[in-house]
Amino acid sequence: MNILITGGCGYIGSHCAVVAIKAGWHPIILDDLSNSGEFVIERIHEITGVRPTFIRGDVRDATTLKEVFSSWEIDAVLHFAAHKAVGESVEVPLSYYHNNVGGTLTVLEAMKEYGVKTFVFSSSATVYGEPKEVPIQEHSPRNPTSPYARTKVIIEDILADLTEAEPDWRIARLRYFNPVGAHESGLIGEDPRDTPNNLMPYIAQVAVGQQERLSVFGGDYPTRDGTCLRDYIHVMDLAEGHLAALDHLRGNEGLLTVNLGTGTNSSVLEVIGAFQKASGQDIPYEIVGRRPGDVSAYWADASLAKQLLGWRAKRNLAAMCADTWRWQAANPSGFRKPTEARQHRLGLDSHSQT
Ligand code: NAD
Ligand code: UDP
Repeated sequence: MNILITGGCGYIGSHCAVVAIKAGWHPIILDDLSNSGEFVIERIHEITGVRPTFIRGDVRDATTLKEVFSSWEIDAVLHFAAHKAVGESVEVPLSYYHNNVGGTLTVLEAMKEYGVKTFVFSSSATVYGEPKEVPIQEHSPRNPTSPYARTKVIIEDILADLTEAEPDWRIARLRYFNPVGAHESGLIGEDPRDTPNNLMPYIAQVAVGQQERLSVFGGDYPTRDGTCLRDYIHVMDLAEGHLAALDHLRGNEGLLTVNLGTGTNSSVLEVIGAFQKASGQDIPYEIVGRRPGDVSAYWADASLAKQLLGWRAKRNLAAMCADTWRWQAANPSGFRKPTEARQHRLGLDSHSQT
């Protein structure tokens, strides 16, 4: 069984590739390496003993997709390829609409041409915006507040229209909460190219001395300790959720929409405490002003995924921190060698990203 994984060299896609291989799929990874590197393929090989097929290419390139679909009999597509930085999407919205929406359309058109109709889409809890009620259920209104979030809503709507028009498609819209952690081998993990925006990778970089201290954005929220609450989910649980979705689609045509979260929440201070415990490192931090646009508390109602997919997240915050630490401690500069990372920081290499 061949599965096309777009964006499979990235953080979530690479973990899904590992889980897919273990479940008997042969992954064909299509990635333009705009936010990752080919060395991930080696690491997937090292973990699983199987080398995924890798094609360097852009999902917006219809010719590349035709080549892929005509060369392999593809059974299903996991579509991760996208830009994902909320702040950046405000600055360069056209790039986000072009890559995320345009890329998805090109993939769907190629699938239609080659009669492949099983599609799993990386949506996000960001589609809900500031929720009226927590935990968030799937029927809660969507209220996107950034161009990035709007790309996810637009694609979700395209997928709904497609299943309405052609009911034999099998499509999952998976709304991720806050993916963190790494494969327990420490061989793959999240590797932000620049200073991390997200909490867990920032803490991990403080722990290895790449950053001096963490700024905690806001200590005056109406929560149990004044810091924001989020539903952090281990990336391996998330990956297993994709396999559960594929299993569900095998037996069901139409559109599936589920939250992938744990159904629990942790505060920023709780994450810091758990990371200190897991790593044995001190994490210096200071509480500073709120980050514009932050929502004080949101987490998933995870019951629909359990009911429909028989899936639930199994790994707790301690495991998320321990696995992040194992990955970061073994790879303090991510997948790149330290000198390469330093050159990148200084803007000396040709691949540096903004
Ligand atoms: P990532 O940046 O690590 O991985 C995305 C991969 O897609 C990268 O390897 C990148 O090189 C590739 N890519 C981007 N544009 C491409 C294109 N046009 N053609 C081919 N490859 C392309 O991101 P991630 O964290 O693994 O996220 C994967 C998906 O999950 C994205 O769609 C993202 O929006 C979604 N998501 C992520 C999070 C999160 O917190 N990480 C949360 C919710 C949803
Ligand atoms: N956060 C923080 N310092 C950081 C990064 C994040 O205090 O350097 C907080 C942020 O304000 C939010 C929580 O950590 O309350 C999770 O942030 P992240 O960006 O990881 O996820 P998101 O806000 O997108 O859910």
